[in-house]
Amino acid sequence: MAFAQLQLAAPLARAVADLGYESMTPIQAQAIPVVLQGRDVMGAAQTGTGKTAAFSLPLLQRMLKHQSSSTSPARHPVRALVLLPTRELADQVAQAIKDYAKHTQLRCAVVFGGMDMKPQTIELKKGVEILVATPGRLLDHIEAKNAVLNQVEYVVLDEADRMLDIGFLPDLQRILSYLPKQRTTLLFSATFSPEIKRLAGSYLQDPVTIEVGGSNGTAATVEQHFYSVGDDDKRHALHQILKQRDLKQAFVFVNSKLGCARLARSLEREGLKTTALHGDKSQDERLKALDAFKKGEVDLLVCTDVAARGLDIKDVPAVFNFDIPFNAEDYVHRIGRTGRAGALGLALSFVSKSDARLVADIEKLLKTKIELEAVEFDENVPDIHRQGRINDGRRMYAEGVPDDSRHGSHRSGALRDVAREGQFARPERPPRRDYTRPTPAARDPFFDKPYEAPPTAETTPTWDATVSRPGARSISANIKPKRRVAALFKAE
Ligand code: AMP
Repeated sequence: MAFAQLQLAAPLARAVADLGYESMTPIQAQAIPVVLQGRDVMGAAQTGTGKTAAFSLPLLQRMLKHQSSSTSPARHPVRALVLLPTRELADQVAQAIKDYAKHTQLRCAVVFGGMDMKPQTIELKKGVEILVATPGRLLDHIEAKNAVLNQVEYVVLDEADRMLDIGFLPDLQRILSYLPKQRTTLLFSATFSPEIKRLAGSYLQDPVTIEVGGSNGTAATVEQHFYSVGDDDKRHALHQILKQRDLKQAFVFVNSKLGCARLARSLEREGLKTTALHGDKSQDERLKALDAFKKGEVDLLVCTDVAARGLDIKDVPAVFNFDIPFNAEDYVHRIGRTGRAGALGLALSFVSKSDARLVADIEKLLKTKIELEAVEFDENVPDIHRQGRINDGRRMYAEGVPDDSRHGSHRSGALRDVAREGQFARPERPPRRDYTRPTPAARDPFFDKPYEAPPTAETTPTWDATVSRPGARSISANIKPKRRVAALFKAE
């Protein structure tokens, strides 16, 4: 459905046209008419589906009647509050709302922690209609009387599941208690856990439920692979897959801040242009890391879940789960970083022997069987992680060919046991999908656009520069054909 059919007010239609949007994404087509009617919404949609425009365009449209050219702060009270779990996400959503509102006189400001409160205070005191915030910092401003919320008409709880994961429930409850009872509340979450349903039950009135791609679902455009890799071989496997799949940039997820910093350092030492993003980094360092990735100055962004939550870096070609997440829902969030807004994506997970339970949790959440695949190492990608080890290019893991004699019986034994217990299926393997082929079922020409590398990424990625390539193939013949796991999950 085209935006033209919506009869958006002229300033909003112009902003949408400026951004080059033509057709609505599924969440937009479903949510915009409902929000325009003033109904509460419980939406299951990840970042990357066009969710920000889905809630902000209709809110802006409904708020246009309040726009004022007056400079008096009293004429610009906060009317819409958008709450998000992380600084980066708040910044990103505020930027998007500013873009959508740029031809109106509605003002948008963002407040989050880790930054001086003073500039935020000055902006708040001038008056803003749309306030985007993380819960903790918003409470600071409420207590300091910088933010008055008694005229709020709209509240958006975005990435609500993550806000609960982080422990923001008490903060959210407090914030919501300051707001007028008569209001429209929109709740968005990648997954509908029982806690989210409880939150919705307490704060939403007769909400319209909108699900895109099914709750707890993973984007249909993400091709997923689970590799059985010993802990000591993960870095080698990463190098191997980057090269074999001809990947230009990737996110690499790890479970701990310490692991994040260590891995980033090791990869950097091994010649890969890498940066780390984790909670111990200052806000400035985090924004710089993001910026460097966006500009293509770094190829790998090694990150933890909280730090990377909801980052809108368009079309990251691949996401690696260097560690399997402790929480299965994080798997859904992590792989939501790739295959965004219809682009093709690739999610590659390294499963070590101790991960059987975590993988079983992901199977349960996604309601599908996960097959483990082997990484077959290629002698052209030297194993720079295990100095002095002989590499004959024939190492195989899992799939019944564990090389226990060389790597110790711990390596694949657990996985073999799991396979025996039938947790990991060994399915028929249809021919593999060509990663570079556009999706046939694209809804919008926008979604047919290939991955656009950032400006400076035209330079050879570091893994190509450091390792000579035997041929120009993009996918190793040694990698076994896989089924398109995403097809098993509920498609949009
Ligand atoms: P979001 O899920 O809101 O973070 O949006 C993901 C990305 O998709 C953002 O970069 C948006 O600018 C872009 N986007 C949102 N809606 C559309 C649309 N209808 N057509 C093209 N791009 C869009």
